[in-house]
Amino acid sequence: MTEEIFIGPTAVLQLQELLQNRAFQKVVVLVDENTHRHCYPLLKKHLPPGHHLVQIKSGEENKNLATCEHVWRELTEQGLDRWALVVNLGGGVLTDLGGFCASLYKRGIRFVNVPTTLLAQVDASVGGKTGIDFMGFKNHIGVFQEPLAVLVNPAFLQTLEVRQLKSGYAEMVKHWLIMDGDMFRQQRHIGMFTEDWTDLIQHSIAIKSKVVTADPQENGLRKILNFGHTIGHAIESYFLEKPGQELLHGEAIAAGMVCEAYLSVQKGLLSSDELEQIETFMASIYEKAKIQASDLPAISALCLHDKKNSGATINCTLLETIGRAVYDKPITISEVENALRYYQNL
Ligand code: NAD
Repeated sequence: MTEEIFIGPTAVLQLQELLQNRAFQKVVVLVDENTHRHCYPLLKKHLPPGHHLVQIKSGEENKNLATCEHVWRELTEQGLDRWALVVNLGGGVLTDLGGFCASLYKRGIRFVNVPTTLLAQVDASVGGKTGIDFMGFKNHIGVFQEPLAVLVNPAFLQTLEVRQLKSGYAEMVKHWLIMDGDMFRQQRHIGMFTEDWTDLIQHSIAIKSKVVTADPQENGLRKILNFGHTIGHAIESYFLEKPGQELLHGEAIAAGMVCEAYLSVQKGLLSSDELEQIETFMASIYEKAKIQASDLPAISALCLHDKKNSGATINCTLLETIGRAVYDKPITISEVENALRYYQNL
């Protein structure tokens, strides 16, 4: 990876250094209504006096083309040229969309991610995947473009709702399940809450960085980061279309991980005992997603649109054991339905 990642209470100081070392034409800070209120006051003193704020509406339902249009209009009205900088201050919705907008504006301007949710700090802001949802499909339109830097300050998490913290925690659990079984075994006894997230964030980013550095464009190894996401994204997309029943990204991925761990057992990889450890840990943190029998065909069908598929084959990442994943394992629609039924009956 070429992006520089700074983690800790002084991470945002790097912004001043970055701005001193490069002559940006203008700095635009992208916020939503929540990060404007809670996070911008912490960052403001590190920003140049003439910076411009662009505010978007929070929420996955706004990670779409209409919001991009709003951002591109503002960048144009501000007269931004190719030597401007966008600072994305927010969660994964904002860093995905802000990175996407910056990557396409005038064929690409530089951007810095300042992630403010646990999920964005350990996952979304790192690794260069940017994009938006389209026609009901998650991250359907997007590009790979790494930010200039990622500045991770755990202090932003102090204003985050517990439900959002739990959502981000799911991606941390995923990192342990695919790459560090010892960490999973250790953490499942400790439980989720911690006074200081810094070490856990650092550990998770290290795993993601290692994988992304080995395979930046997801031709092979990077697919292991999608564990839980083939079925998880389908669940998330399905409920995104049902106002009032939406699941947070990590909540859907937690359900997806249980389903895909179940499929790992069915394929003779993971042991039943390990599946039980995963289920028990997930159940101790997450409420079960309310999936009805009548939802199963539609959710399963959504898996056909997963970006990892080749033709009509659904390619899934499964677990060989806790701490080791394998990618490109073909699964069928009926296997997905069975896994969802298994989850539903837990
Ligand atoms: P989010 O961006 O929707 O943020 C959650 C909520 O918290 C929002 O309402 C936001 O305004 C608010 N918020 C943000 N920071 C806050 C703070 N410090 N205090 C109070 N409120 C705050 O959700 P998320 O979980 O961060 O991100 C989910 C998105 O990330 C999904 O769209 C998912 O597809 C994407 N994602 C991308 C990648 C990637 O590699 N690009 C990886 C994982 C997930």
